[in-house]
Amino acid sequence: MRQIKLPETQVPLQRLHDPLLQTRGVAVSVLRLDLIHPWISGNKWFKLRLSLEQARREGRHTVLSFGGAWSNHLLALAAAGREFGFGTIGMVRGEVPRPLNPLLQAAEDFGMTLVSVDRASYRNKLSAEFLRDVYAEWGDIHVIPEGGASFQGVLGSMAIADSVQWSEPLASPRIVTLATATGTTLAGVVAGLGADVSVDATLVLKGEDRISAQVRDWLALLPRRPHAAWQVLQGWHCGGYARSAPELVQFMRQFTETTGVPLEPVYSGKMMWSLYARIASGEIPEGAEIVAIHTGGILPRGH
Ligand SMILES: *Cc1c(COP(=O)(O)O)cnc(C)c1O
Repeated sequence: MRQIKLPETQVPLQRLHDPLLQTRGVAVSVLRLDLIHPWISGNKWFKLRLSLEQARREGRHTVLSFGGAWSNHLLALAAAGREFGFGTIGMVRGEVPRPLNPLLQAAEDFGMTLVSVDRASYRNKLSAEFLRDVYAEWGDIHVIPEGGASFQGVLGSMAIADSVQWSEPLASPRIVTLATATGTTLAGVVAGLGADVSVDATLVLKGEDRISAQVRDWLALLPRRPHAAWQVLQGWHCGGYARSAPELVQFMRQFTETTGVPLEPVYSGKMMWSLYARIASGEIPEGAEIVAIHTGGILPRGH
């Protein structure tokens, strides 16, 4: 395994020029994690890096993880395997669709071995029994939980906060916003930010209680009490994970037309949609400065 490192580049923080925002008197910048690497995209890199470093330290040559058929996490892991020189196994919930969808095709092209796991087994994927079989079959591997949802993922995500900058020191309030699914990235960002910031996380699936409890548990493991206040915003999931609504699609089209920033409908689309709606309703007051974290998830063109 080669050193786990991407070229050190500053994550671009892009100020949005949108007359709508000007009218409301709020400043929004987008932290473009989607631009750090074409395939090891966005927050997935931050969630993976410490686990991959551990695998490297322990001399493992293969990393195994779990995800659905549209898992950005599996794709990022596959690309990281190619980039840093290790084997990857993707345990896919349900049947691996053949022909492969573009995401799984890209993962396989990067050398990932795709394995179908029936849904009942998948639910028990962290049981001792299931893992014993996995280790028996695949040998000396490093296992990363589904979605990179681990405390190591939280610690790795803290570095995202280092790229958050405020252009107007006196603007108030300061708000960081992002999409959340497992809460891993949210917990890391909250832990990495100071007390003068609050974090609004748009939940992209149902189940607010579970996510908030998980975030609190992770934060409690950190030596220093985190200072950024945070909340999980419900009501923007359109019925569940990867569900959509005509209003969302319409918003995304308009947003990208105006700002030039690409969105995808599962995460960043819902985050930006909820942000704009809360600006329009006045829930986010005039004078606010907002950093919206673009967590990636956009397949390069031609895929
Ligand atoms: C996986 C993913 C998320 C969710 O991250 P969590 O740490 O699980 O909350 C957000 N945005 C994109 C683009 C993702 O791929």
